[in-house]
Amino acid sequence: MTQQPHHSPTNDHQIQTIAQAEQSIVQPAQQSSSTIKIAVIGDVHNCWDADDAIALKHLGVDLVLLVGDFGNESVEVVRSIAGMAMPKAAVLGNHDAWYSATEWGIKKCPYDRTKEDRVQQQLDLLGEAHVGYGKLDFPALNLTVVGSRPFSWGGSEWKNTNAFYASRYGITSFAESTDRIVQVASSSALDTVIFLGHCGPKGLGDRAEDICGKDWSPPGGDHGDPDFAEAIEATRSLGKAVPLVAFGHMHHQLRHTKQQQRVPIFATNGTIYLNAASVPRIVKTDTNCLRNFSLVTLQANSVAQASLVWLDQSLTLVSETVLYRDETTSSQPHQNHEAAV
Ligand SMILES: [Zn+2]
Repeated sequence: MTQQPHHSPTNDHQIQTIAQAEQSIVQPAQQSSSTIKIAVIGDVHNCWDADDAIALKHLGVDLVLLVGDFGNESVEVVRSIAGMAMPKAAVLGNHDAWYSATEWGIKKCPYDRTKEDRVQQQLDLLGEAHVGYGKLDFPALNLTVVGSRPFSWGGSEWKNTNAFYASRYGITSFAESTDRIVQVASSSALDTVIFLGHCGPKGLGDRAEDICGKDWSPPGGDHGDPDFAEAIEATRSLGKAVPLVAFGHMHHQLRHTKQQQRVPIFATNGTIYLNAASVPRIVKTDTNCLRNFSLVTLQANSVAQASLVWLDQSLTLVSETVLYRDETTSSQPHQNHEAAV
């Protein structure tokens, strides 16, 4: 976002609507050998615990994608995520460099930056799983995950963070950033590329409620990353298939109105763009603890379905909102356990 912390909505409405949601257990779809189930973890903002890894196993996912903003340089949250023994890829977000990327952030830094570098600690913990300006090949899944620019704040102005990107990545402009992402994508071992970013790409709408729309004052405007958008197009031109682009950063709960939520899905050109930032991703009630995941099913390297699910503390699926379904590939009856989440 801009240089303001994400607000942390305590969302009574959300708690209530989830609690009221129809209790339902949706059986997993009949899986064919070419079906891949992906969980996308939206902005964590410290909402992560040991039950998340258990839930992901329970959901039977083949791959976990994490869009960053684990906390404000919260090394312990990243340590926990990095220790999760599942195929995974992550891109760190602007909050993961909260005290390191800008002059004003450095001024507020609560630790001694001459003695430790918590940005680097997070990168070291994630190791090859961090795909910001990098990639990870998953031959068993027949796809490569390519990361866009890590630590993105979104928007079309290259400012404030130039020294950060220059010193850590040798990048000083959007054009250089695009080139870096494309260079990585061109080296993908597989011809199916899933893109993972913190903020989504530019070009997907300029209304406040659009998938990367600016929802603070004055609302409206496209806050997507221009380098990410150009890199996706260039990657398509290389002959790679791009069925899924996953990201977060722009929270579903809009800042300027409670009357509607962000539209978290956009489909075009054979690509599904998914904003997974349903924040807070863990909601505690007096008697339960609910957590969300975005789930994407790929069939024959094409997105068959994308949904947002909430699980309770016994890992029962309490709501599933189907965001996208490709009717041409689906043999399942339409399921839509709508909850206003
Ligand atoms: Zn963010």
